[in-house]
This record gives sequence, C-alpha cells and structure tokens, in this order.
Amino acid sequence: MAAAFEKRFGVRHLSSGDLLREALRRGDSLGKEAARWMKSGALVPDQLVTDLIGDHLDHLGPTADFVLDGFPRTAEQARALDRRLSSGGHVPIDRAIRFEVSMETIVNRLAGRRVCRQCGANYHVVTLPPRRSGVCDSCGGILEIRGDDQPETVRRRVEVYQDQIQPLEAYYEAQGKLRELSGESSVEKQVNGLVAL
Ligand code: AMP
Repeated sequence: MAAAFEKRFGVRHLSSGDLLREALRRGDSLGKEAARWMKSGALVPDQLVTDLIGDHLDHLGPTADFVLDGFPRTAEQARALDRRLSSGGHVPIDRAIRFEVSMETIVNRLAGRRVCRQCGANYHVVTLPPRRSGVCDSCGGILEIRGDDQPETVRRRVEVYQDQIQPLEAYYEAQGKLRELSGESSVEKQVNGLVAL
C-alpha cells in the first residue's frame, strides 16, 4: 500500500522489513544479526532498526517527504525516530496511520503473498499475480513464500504486534497525530483515504 502511495505522489517509501530483508540478501552483518529474530516472528532490537531507518533518512536528505512502513513498531522506536529527525534537521512526522484489518484478511493476504528472491518485489497469487506464474515481472527473479509467512510465525507476529501497539498508539495519540483507516478495501481506495486524512 505504501508502495502505491510512493508511486502516486513521488514521496519516498521506506519499509523497515524490506530494508532488513535486503541486508539479509546482501549477507552483511546487520542482516545476519536481524535474521536471528525475524525467523521466529520476533521484533529485532530497537537500536538496530532505528539506526537502519535513520541512516536511510539521512541519505534522503532533510527536506525529503517520506512514508515509513512497518516502522516505528514500539514506543521506544517512535521516540528514537523523533530524536533522530530533529537532530538531523528533517521534517517531523506529520501523521501516524493505523489500518484496521480483520485477522481473516491478514491470514489470507500473507498466505497468498509471494516475494521476489532477487529484488524483493511483492505479489499476491489472487489480488496481484505476476504475468508469469512464479516469476518476477520486474527482474525475472524467482518468486517465493517469505519464511515468516508460515502460519505459526504469522500468529507470533500478530501477538508481538498486539503487545506493542498500545504504547505506540498512545505516543502518537498524545501528539494528535494518530488517524485510522480501513485496511480492508482495495489499495486504490486506501491511497485515496490517506489523501483525505
Ligand atoms: P514486515 O516486513 O514489516 O512484516 O517485517 C518482517 C520482520 O522484520 C518482523 O517480523 C520483524 O522481525 C522485523 N521488523 C520489521 N520492522 C521492524 C521494526 N520496526 N522493529 C523491529 N523489527 C522489525
């Protein structure tokens, strides 16, 4: 969804999960460290992911507009992000969006998700199939099921999310930045919904 938003408005989309998987594919030390937690569906340590996102934001430069996807996931990450944005002279966070989605939708989406092994592009067997089954439209890479999309790991990821979400929401609520959107509709409707917030 954030990727569709990026396409339409030209703002940069930074997904913490994508950046971690990229580091893993490159085989660098950060990727290897993160994999220890990602495999089981646990969160990687706050410091690691905050530094990773912070470095990418610095690279974009202080005036860039951006959408963060999957980050921050804890109140500590949100506080660290604000500190990093202000010390780097970046634009501050404008809105935090909570997408309301049923458990059934989450499971269906993740069960059908396929990811390119080479470039990380995302597909869905029903809602966003590639032109050739099992092959990435963009780079011709092989599509695979993400290791942490197995049902057992998905359950763990949802539990972890539910543990962390309340303090995170409270952080943005207190700043008057929290908004809600239904995540059940089509990507296009969600992008339109975001624009209206
Ligand atoms: P995602 O692609 O957002 O579903 O993230 C996949 C996995 O990467 C998560 O289950 C975590 O292990 C890790 N991860 C992604 N973003 C974060 C974050 N902000 N904080 C901690 N761990 C993260």
